[in-house]
Amino acid sequence: MHRIRKEALEFMLGASRSLHPREFIGFLRAEGDLITEIIVPPAALYGHGFASHQEYLMPIDSTLIGSVHSHPSANNRPSQQDINFFAKGKLNLIIARPYQTINDIAAYDQAGKPVEIETA
Ligand SMILES: [Zn+2]
Repeated sequence: MHRIRKEALEFMLGASRSLHPREFIGFLRAEGDLITEIIVPPAALYGHGFASHQEYLMPIDSTLIGSVHSHPSANNRPSQQDINFFAKGKLNLIIARPYQTINDIAAYDQAGKPVEIETA
């Protein structure tokens, strides 16, 4: 079970809301099983979408355990492209519209299998 610090949760929900209908993308920084911070690659602020960021390397930083991105729809299931990208991280989050609470977020492991998350 991974937990998310409330500030990190609010940050990614807010970023998804403000970028809508463009996609937010970030990386998850963690201490153990606790996600403490969301790291945003500079190009992500322009909202070019998740697919166009897949060439970007996951930053070489052992505290980053995975990714988060938003979907402009209410569907937080991963596309095949998402699943291919998930292989690079241990935990991957998809945030669906309306980007309000943890219930709008689905979490997946490296293989694209759903996993549980909760607020810390
Ligand atoms: Zn996606």
